[in-house]
Amino acid sequence: PTYIAAEDRYHKMKYRRCGKSGILLPLLSLGLWHNFGDSDDFNKARTILRTAFDNGITHFDLANNYGPPFGSAEENFGRIVAKDFKQYRDELIISTKAGWDMWNGPYGNLGSRKYLIASCDQSLKRMGLDYVDIFYHHRPDPDTPLEETMGALDQIVRQGKALYVGISQYSAEDTAKASKILKELGTPCLIHQPRYNMFDRWVENGLLDVLSQEGIGSIAFSPLEQGILTNKYLKGIPEGSRAATGTSYLGSDSITPEVISKVQKLNTIAESRGQSLAQMAIVWLLRNPEITTVLVGVSRAEQLLDNIKAIENLLFSEAELKQIESILNK
Ligand code: NDP
Repeated sequence: PTYIAAEDRYHKMKYRRCGKSGILLPLLSLGLWHNFGDSDDFNKARTILRTAFDNGITHFDLANNYGPPFGSAEENFGRIVAKDFKQYRDELIISTKAGWDMWNGPYGNLGSRKYLIASCDQSLKRMGLDYVDIFYHHRPDPDTPLEETMGALDQIVRQGKALYVGISQYSAEDTAKASKILKELGTPCLIHQPRYNMFDRWVENGLLDVLSQEGIGSIAFSPLEQGILTNKYLKGIPEGSRAATGTSYLGSDSITPEVISKVQKLNTIAESRGQSLAQMAIVWLLRNPEITTVLVGVSRAEQLLDNIKAIENLLFSEAELKQIESILNK
């Protein structure tokens, strides 16, 4: 059966302007790092994407090496676009990236012009798209001149293969430098994608200031600390969870009694707000005006529906924020 998107989708989501640009992004965006590879359930992946779009989530985030195997998330996403989203392409902001290891040899990693241009071409083929909306450099490369990497991003836009460009995990200092170069080239940086959650707050130490000075938006990745900032690990490690699968970047050794004791206390505050912990963790990131959108991953559509409800209570009292600080700072 042909997919018809929910008619009321744009009434269910709120949108924020991405820096000083023409683009509005939904408060929640969906990432395809996990759960869209060849080892994952295709129909489940398809349901997650439909659920997202039906609820006004217009932004899907990918990278060349999402899977496993590398490339397979883009391929599976491309199959789903062909089946369900062809007629909605102009309602979507699709991003991909290059910067981590992708293919063998010296040209399949880091930040050379050679790597970025070739990787973007490959990504477009895998997804069956003419262009992506945002192309990112996925991580800083200390050995390639920033002028070369930013030049490659600008070139990709001029080739018509991306509409906007972004950078991920760049420090405050490198972000300021990259932004200057990109402005000179005439392709201003649209967005920064940093890791940011209650347990990982490096962005508060300078990066957010640079983003507001430069007029760059941002999208926070791993907002739930890969699931730790939800109620799922409160009573041990459930079967099928990311920490249980052992294939991922979340080892079961991250779930320590100290961590869980903090999560427990945060969960109590969330409950007093009438929210799930996942919802509160999302809204807590959005308290910063520099954070345009929060980039969640989900292994089931139900998790996404839970997370989306976050937008029903976006406000914190001073007392709540203080309580949260005292838990996080212990
Ligand atoms: P999250 O911190 O949102 O973790 C996602 C995991 O949390 C899910 O797979 C699920 O785990 C669990 N979860 C989510 N919602 C709920 C819920 N409501 N209740 C219970 N558990 C829940 O983000 P990710 O680490 O997945 O990162 C999100 C996206 O960020 C990626 O898909 C990718 O697009 C991007 N990213 C970018 C990086 C970069 O370098 N730029 C690096 C990493 C990610 P479970 O599987 O256990 O059910």
